Amino acid sequence: MVGKTTLMRYQRIKRKLRREKFLKTAGWAVKRLVRLRGGVERLEVVRGRRFQVRREDRRCLVCDGREVEDEEHFIDRCAALTTERNEMWGKIGDVLMCPHKLRMIREMNEEQRVDWVLGTEFDLGHWKFPKLQGAIIQGLKELWAGRGRPGLRDACL
Ligand SMILES: [Zn+2]
Repeated sequence: MVGKTTLMRYQRIKRKLRREKFLKTAGWAVKRLVRLRGGVERLEVVRGRRFQVRREDRRCLVCDGREVEDEEHFIDRCAALTTERNEMWGKIGDVLMCPHKLRMIREMNEEQRVDWVLGTEFDLGHWKFPKLQGAIIQGLKELWAGRGRPGLRDACL
């Protein structure tokens, strides 16, 4: 069963999208975006649900484990993924080509920013859309790879 918080995000994002443009983007990496949007990616918050672990105990195994590993933690907060996250925002910045817009996004509250990343709700010219989508999908792919870096998870257990 999909959690209430998750469902709320999906409804927020879905409403903002006119079309599921990202589905046209080739590659398995798109699945990551789809799963994160739907709140079914294999983060601890999802895995713990399956094993009936209390939500507050579904903590991140990658960093210091003080927080629940949900979409916000993974995309926006996990301290172990700072390098990958900075690279993602660097690529997003390269596509946006607008420091003001980038700053606006960075200064959003976390929920809005994660919605923006997952919803890719842009008020941009059409021509930028595929590039931005690509930068985000690539960024999420690298975040996920960072999360699975050999030794990282073991070292923090
Ligand atoms: Zn973490």
